[in-house]
Amino acid sequence: MVGTVTEAAIERVVIVGGGTAGWLSAATLAARLPHLSIALVEAPDIPTVGVGEGTWPTMRETLRAIGIAEGEFLAECGASFKQGSRFDGWTTGAAGDSYFHPFTPPPLSSSSGGVPRALLAAWREDRAGASFAETMSAQAAACARDLAPRQRAMPEYSGALNYAYHLDAGAFARLLARHATGRLGVRHVAGEVVAVEAAENGDVAAVRLRGGEKLTGELFLDCSGHAALLIGGHCAVRWVDRSDASPNDRALAVQVPVLPGSAIASQTVATAHEAGWLWDIGLPSRRGIGCVYSSGFLGDERADAILRDYVRARVPGAGVEALAPRLLRFGAGHRDSFWRGNVIAIGQAAGFIEPLEASAIVMVELSLRALVENFPASRAVMDVHARRFDALFRYRWDRIVDFLKLHYALSRRDEPYWRAQRDPAGFSPTLADQLALWRDQPPSAWDLPQVDEVFSAASQAYVYYGMGLPVPERLSATPDATARLAEVRARERALAASLPTNRAYLDAATAQAA
Ligand SMILES: Cc1cc2nc3c(=O)[nH]c(=O)nc-3n(C[C@H](O)[C@H](O)[C@H](O)COP(=O)(O)OP(=O)(O)OC[C@H]3O[C@@H](n4cnc5c(N)ncnc54)[C@H](O)[C@@H]3O)c2cc1C
Repeated sequence: MVGTVTEAAIERVVIVGGGTAGWLSAATLAARLPHLSIALVEAPDIPTVGVGEGTWPTMRETLRAIGIAEGEFLAECGASFKQGSRFDGWTTGAAGDSYFHPFTPPPLSSSSGGVPRALLAAWREDRAGASFAETMSAQAAACARDLAPRQRAMPEYSGALNYAYHLDAGAFARLLARHATGRLGVRHVAGEVVAVEAAENGDVAAVRLRGGEKLTGELFLDCSGHAALLIGGHCAVRWVDRSDASPNDRALAVQVPVLPGSAIASQTVATAHEAGWLWDIGLPSRRGIGCVYSSGFLGDERADAILRDYVRARVPGAGVEALAPRLLRFGAGHRDSFWRGNVIAIGQAAGFIEPLEASAIVMVELSLRALVENFPASRAVMDVHARRFDALFRYRWDRIVDFLKLHYALSRRDEPYWRAQRDPAGFSPTLADQLALWRDQPPSAWDLPQVDEVFSAASQAYVYYGMGLPVPERLSATPDATARLAEVRARERALAASLPTNRAYLDAATAQAA
C-alpha cells in the first residue's frame, strides 16, 4: 500500500532556529541529502547565543562536505587555526603552572588514542623535566612559536599537524546561511514559531508562525537553543540537570581588538581563577575573552574585575575601562532523550555543559553525522533510529561530563570552589573507576570502548599527565619508544623550518580572498 502515514518517504525537513546549530544542520543536510526539501525558520527578534568561537578538527570535514572552500571560510569568518588548548593555573595556581592538550596524538597511539606504555616510561626515564605534551607531540613546540598547522600550498583542509579553527560565531552563521540558501537550495523563513500542530500519533505535523503561516514537514529539527520549543515544549522531554558535576553557570564575554601584525595564538588559552576560568581566543582582528564562573561561588562584580584584570595584564593597550562585557547565563545539562517521534534536538536545545574544551559545536556535527548516515527512509523506522540515536548521545553526554570533570578532579588548588569541584560526590561512577585504575595503567581503549569517542584516550592522557599525575612505576621503556620520542624532536625542527606563523598565513589568505 502506497501513501500510508508510516510508509510515506521523509522528504520535507523543517529546522526551527538559525544559530550555529540550525545553519550547520541546514547546510549539512542539504549538501549530503540533496533530495530533501529543507526549510529553516528563525525568529529575527530572538538573538542567537552569539558565542562559540572554538571548534574541533571535525569542522574541516564538515566544511568540506558542505562545499565551502577553506580560504573563503577563513576570510569570511575572521578565523584562525586552533591546534589545542593550554591550561594555565589549573593544577596548583602557582607561577609557571601550565599544561597543553594538543590535537595531535602521541606517536604509536592506537586509533582510540591509547598511549603505548613503553612511551610513557620513556618520557619518565629520558625526558625528566619536559612536559608530557612537549615530549609526545611536535605540536606543542609549533604552538609555542605561534606557527600555522599547514603551508598555503597544501591541499585545502589538510595540514602538517591536526587542527581546527577559532572563528567569529556571528560571521560563521551568516556564511552558512548564505551558502545554504544561495547554493544548496535551503528555504529561509523569517518568523517566530508560536504554535505546534500535532498529528494523530503525537508527532509534529506543522509549526505555525506569528502571522499565521504554517510550515509542514515529515521531520523537524529543534535548533531553537534554550527555548527547546519542540523537544522541551511539544514533546515535553525532561531536562537532565548535570550541575552537580558541572557547577559553572555564567560567563562574562568581551571582544578586544588587537593591533595589526600582532601574533595570533594557535591554541585556546584557559586560565584558572578563584572560582572558574577564563577563555582567551585569538582571531586576526580581535581576541575573544570570557570569564566562566559559578554564581554559587562568585558574584558578577568580582567576575567582572577578574575579567578586566586579565585583559589589562594580557592585552596591552586594550582600553579596559571602555569594555562592556556581556553576561551569559547557562545551565549544565541535556535532554533525557534527543529524538522523540519526528523531532530531533540539535545544539543548545539538546544540551550544554560549559564552554571548557569546546564540546558543543562538535556535538552538533556528530548529531548530523549520525542523522545523515542513518537518515530514516520513512516514519515506520523512525522509532528504531530514535532509540539508537538516544543511546549513543546519552553515552556521549556522559563522557563529556566525565572528561570536563577530570580537569577539576585533578586540581590541587585550594579555594572553596576548587575544593568543591574535586569532591568525589560530584564524580560519576565511571570517572571514579577511571581515576582508580589510572594510578596503575594509562588511559586506553578499555576505558573508552566506543568507535567514535568524543574524547580519545590520548586526550585523557594529555590532561591526566599534564596535571602532574605519575606514570606507574612498573612500566619500562623500550629502545623503539625512545627512538620514537627522538623522532618527535626531529619533527619539531622540521616544522619550525617549514611552517609560516599564523599571522603571516592568515594575512596572506585574507589578502588573496579580498
Ligand atoms: C559562554 C559560552 C561559550 C561557548 N563557547 C563555545 C565554544 O567555544 N565552542 C563550542 O563548540 N560551543 C561553545 N558554546 C556553545 C555554542 O555557542 C552553541 O552550542 C552554539 O552556538 C549552538 O547554539 P544553537 O544554535 O543551538 O542556539 P542559539 O544560538 O541560541 O540559536 C537559537 C535560534 O533559535 C531561534 N528561535 C528561538 N525561539 C524561536 C521561535 N519561537 N521561533 C523561531 N525561532 C526561534 C533563535 O532566533 C535563534 O536563531 C558556548 C556557549 C556559551 C554560553
